[in-house]
Amino acid sequence: AKAGGRNGYCFFAAEMTVEARTRMTLELSLRHALAREEFVLHYQPRIDLGTMAIVGMEALIRWNHPELGQVSPMQFIPIAEETGLIEAIGQWVLLEACMQTRRLMDWSGRPLCISVNLSARQLKCRDIVDQVRDALDRSGLPAPLLELELTESALIEDIEHSARLLKELKGLGIRLAVDDFGTGYSGLAYLRRFPLDVLKLDRSFVLQQDENDHNFDFIKAFVDMAHALKLSVVAEGVETSDTLQFLRNADCDEAQGYFLAKPLSLSDFEAYLSRLPRI
Ligand code: C2E
Ligand code: CA
Ligand code: CA
Ligand code: CA
Repeated sequence: AKAGGRNGYCFFAAEMTVEARTRMTLELSLRHALAREEFVLHYQPRIDLGTMAIVGMEALIRWNHPELGQVSPMQFIPIAEETGLIEAIGQWVLLEACMQTRRLMDWSGRPLCISVNLSARQLKCRDIVDQVRDALDRSGLPAPLLELELTESALIEDIEHSARLLKELKGLGIRLAVDDFGTGYSGLAYLRRFPLDVLKLDRSFVLQQDENDHNFDFIKAFVDMAHALKLSVVAEGVETSDTLQFLRNADCDEAQGYFLAKPLSLSDFEAYLSRLPRI
C-alpha cells in the first residue's frame, strides 16, 4: 500500500472504506496480540437439563485490543483464519483452557468438562493431534473432560480427512461435538461417519421454538434421532424460561444460554462456582 510513497499511501487510504480500514487495523494488530497477551478466555456454563447442575463450560476467546477495546471473536476469528494466525491462537486457547480447567477443578472439587472451539483451518493443521495431546499432558486434565467443538461446515469440507482426523483425536480419549448444527448443509446421515459424542443445536434453530407449532415435533424428532445415534444433544442460546421448558419437554440433554448464565471472566466464573450448592 505504501508503494506510491507518502502521497500514494494517503490516496489509497482515503479510498478505503471505514470497514476495510478497520479490518486492516485489526489484521496488523492481530499479529502481535498473542505475544502482547491481549487474549483472555471467558467461560459459559453448560447445564444438565435433567438435574439443572453444571456439567462444564465452553471456552470463548476475548480480545482486549489496546485502542479498540474488546473485539468480538465474530470479527477477528475470520481474519485469524484467513491469515493463518488461528493456528497459534488456537493452540494457545487449547492449552489455556485445559490449564485453567484443571486449576478450577482442583479449587472447586468438581469435575468440569471444558469445550474448546476448533476452526476449519485448525482441522487442516498437520500437528493438531499433537497439540491436543500436549495440552492434556501439560495440564494434567483427564482426556474425557476435554471436548472439541467442530462446525458442521468444517467437517464436511473434506469428509475423508475429517473422518480420519476425528478417529485419531477420539483415540486420545477426548469428546467430540458438532457445533452450530442446523445452520445448513447436511443432515444427520453423514454424522455416522464420525466418532461424535455431542450435537450442539444452533441458536437460530432453538429460537424458533413454540409449543403449538410444528417446530416442537421437529426438534423432538431431531433429538430422538440424535439419541438413536448415541449422541447427546446440547442446545445453545437459551434466553428464556419458555425455551428452557420447551427443550426439557423435547428431551434435550443439556443447554447453554444467557437465561442460564452468560460467558463469564475467569474470576466471575469462580464466583459463580462458589455460589452453587456444594456437591
Ligand atoms: P459459538 O461457538 O457458536 O459460540 C456461541 C456464541 O453465542 C458465543 O458468542 C456466546 O457468547 C453466544 N451466546 C451464548 N449464549 C447466548 C444467548 O443466550 N444468546 C445469544 N444471543 N448469544 C449467546 P461469542 O463468544 O461472541 O463467540 C462467537 C463465535 O466465535 C463462536 O460461536 C465461535 O464460532 C467463535 N469463537 C469463540 N471463541 C473461539 C475460540 O477460542 N476459537 C475459535 N476457533 N472460535 C471461537
Ligand atoms: Ca461453540
Ligand atoms: Ca455454536
Ligand atoms: Ca454459533
